[in-house]
Amino acid sequence: YVRVRFAPSPTGFLHIGGLRTALYNYLFAKSHPNGKFIVRIEDTDQARVVAGAAANLLSILEWTGIKADESPFHGGKYGPYTQSERLQSYQESAESLVARGAAYRCFCTPQRLNILKRDQLQRREAPKYDNRCRNLEENIIQTSLKQNKPYVIRLKLCDGVVIFNDALFGEINHNVASIEGDPILLKSDGYPTYHLANVVDDHLMDITHVIRGKEWLTSTPKHINIYNAMEWRLPTFMHLPLLLNSDRSKLSKRQGSVYVEQLKEKGYSPSAVLNFMAYYGSGFNLAEFPVCHSDEREVLKMLSAAFDYRKIMLSDAMVNFSKLDEFSKSVTTHSLSIKDYKWRDELCADTLKLVRQKYRDKCVFLTDVHNGQAYINRILETRKTHLIKLNDLLDDEYDYLWLRPEPIGLKNSLPEFSEGLRDIVRFLQQTDEFEQKIISQFLRTIAKNHRVKFSSLMRYLRILLSGKEQGPGVADMIFMLGRQETLLRLSEKPK
Ligand code: GLU
Repeated sequence: YVRVRFAPSPTGFLHIGGLRTALYNYLFAKSHPNGKFIVRIEDTDQARVVAGAAANLLSILEWTGIKADESPFHGGKYGPYTQSERLQSYQESAESLVARGAAYRCFCTPQRLNILKRDQLQRREAPKYDNRCRNLEENIIQTSLKQNKPYVIRLKLCDGVVIFNDALFGEINHNVASIEGDPILLKSDGYPTYHLANVVDDHLMDITHVIRGKEWLTSTPKHINIYNAMEWRLPTFMHLPLLLNSDRSKLSKRQGSVYVEQLKEKGYSPSAVLNFMAYYGSGFNLAEFPVCHSDEREVLKMLSAAFDYRKIMLSDAMVNFSKLDEFSKSVTTHSLSIKDYKWRDELCADTLKLVRQKYRDKCVFLTDVHNGQAYINRILETRKTHLIKLNDLLDDEYDYLWLRPEPIGLKNSLPEFSEGLRDIVRFLQQTDEFEQKIISQFLRTIAKNHRVKFSSLMRYLRILLSGKEQGPGVADMIFMLGRQETLLRLSEKPK
């Protein structure tokens, strides 16, 4: 069986690097029969915890379609899934490590540690704990305990190299004890550090595969020390290459939207975001991207079926955000072009909601839901090959779809168009074939019959309809606005 976990710390928004880790874990689980994907909140570094961040992480992950089998939201029989609710397990394990001789109490004061650090820095050495309390005499320990001296519990790092097999990178050997001092497992306030809590929970939650970013690779030997001392079965470790900016620097917010919330806010669909995440370094056939144009649930199904961790690329992946736009446009165009697209009503409803949020009751002609749906449907149909994402429709260039433009002064050229306009109005009132092609043909005929320049007539109509000089073709505009609204705008007397 397979049980994997995504273990974010609730210190802020979900970074796309984190989303990628979650996605790989999810795909790994779902590419195995009955594989389980667990989300655990690692909030033991209380100083860094941000209020509300945990709930946010869980809901934005859910938004992408990556649904946990067990989590603080969904529960499960290995819960609680939030570390601050599991303090007792860590304290017990820390005591057990001390009893086994694999960890020890350290009574060093912050002052001593500061002086140690200062001296090391002066000697141009990398600061590290000097393991002074490793071999304290038992009676000194007992006296200190009796005096209620605060202490931490430190792991006794094993001397020599720790060798382990990473599922992606193969054999890793790392002599952590030669570089670092003994790390703290349990702080004086009874809270565990990452290393202890992470290992204890992976064990207690029966995690079979630890899949996480490469930045944790050097922590793994410490974790293996703990597993071995506790005589616990080691999970399989798989460390993932990183996402980088195009200049190879670490992906940071200076480069664009690196938080999933921001992408959502900008109007990218979960499907586009998932494709974007799966595109880089995952070993899928790149020629097939976007893999699926449909709803995120379908995207995840397809990705899970095709996922093979052995194909994951070992080099870090450089991210190019123009791919996100490319996939987004492709997803938008395709899903809107599919006849009987099963999420279409959802799309219409989503768009309608956005419009209502932005324009509220100023949007006079979207009064009832039914009308609204039909109206949006015509717009999506007409603009489907132009939109990168649905909320492009909220950009100013489209505001005439939601707000009636102010009647604008059209000083010149009015008389020469007035007869044509009368014919157009009559036609639009009467025709049974209210569709782009027919309307467009009719407009050409009118220009010819009345001997006016077609482009000037179009400019004139476009301004009447939208208050703008530029925009989609006039026939498209008329079709989108619909008969009633078009007639209303055309009969508005220009001043
Ligand atoms: N809490 C760690 C993080 O925020 C988890 C690392 C791991 O998966 O072991 O990334």
